[in-house]
Amino acid sequence: MTSVRAGVDLGATKIQAVVVGDDHAVLGEAKTETPTSGGPRAVVAKIEGTVREAAKGAGLDVDGLSGAGVGSPGAVDQEAGTVAHARNLPDWDEPFPLAEALGNALGTTVRIENDVKVAVTAELELGAGRRYESFLGVWWGTGVGGGIVLDRKLWRGRGAAGEIGHMVVKRGGARCPCGRRGCLEAYAGRGAMEAHARKLVKHGRKTDLFELMEKRKRDRLTSGVWADALERKDELATALLDRAVAALGAGIGSAVNLLDVEAVIVGGGLGTRLGEPYVRRIAEAARPHLFVDERPPAMLTAALGDLGGAIGAALLVGPA
Ligand SMILES: [Zn+2]
Repeated sequence: MTSVRAGVDLGATKIQAVVVGDDHAVLGEAKTETPTSGGPRAVVAKIEGTVREAAKGAGLDVDGLSGAGVGSPGAVDQEAGTVAHARNLPDWDEPFPLAEALGNALGTTVRIENDVKVAVTAELELGAGRRYESFLGVWWGTGVGGGIVLDRKLWRGRGAAGEIGHMVVKRGGARCPCGRRGCLEAYAGRGAMEAHARKLVKHGRKTDLFELMEKRKRDRLTSGVWADALERKDELATALLDRAVAALGAGIGSAVNLLDVEAVIVGGGLGTRLGEPYVRRIAEAARPHLFVDERPPAMLTAALGDLGGAIGAALLVGPA
């Protein structure tokens, strides 16, 4: 084993770390909840602890790591090693030198990249995207992120390409967390769905969603809570997810009309949790929107599942 690296998926809800070897095999893993206060310093301390635990699981100390990669939400400046405007992380708006701070804490080189780009690259190199020249990654979680792969390269545009969550699926429609109206994320993002559910409950709508949330000792509607509610055939949860599926179908159908990619790969917290049956439903919802509907793209779930983001982050510092 010549190069052992750490990869971290920094999410709004959890921090997932893995330690991988040369062949990308996971040697150790650990996860923890993302702190909800304390700002970037508190987040860095949690990441450090999670990486140390993952290394321990691999039978190593962090001194044995040849580097660490982090997939982060927000505006990531890879060159500067900073993250800004991470809305779902505590008090994290100004650019913060994440690479340097974590590098000092772990005593190793740290590279950072946008979380969804990291996960899509992992699917391209090691997962469901391996056999395609072109695909669209749709990361369905708290928000709806995306990545476009053309000729086996991630299309970056001027740095912000792939934001499928902010494609307009309804002009003048629901308010999106980004402040605009009618975006796909306003209907399908887990954050927006939760805000909508809370509003409806305030107006007297019945649902088990929040009871299930408390049962799981969570303070927000995680993917697991949505899955539990679906299993119970909760009417509100079912209606909101149906609405999300319809919006995803419209957004994905439109994107496929524009790009004509070979495949669409659905990942993210909700995408992974709800899995195959929901990806099939999204494919059906997209179909009426396809201009060339006799050869729809392959619709797949992300093959690397829950660890994909962290495994992808390890690619930032290792042999590709
Ligand atoms: Zn938006």
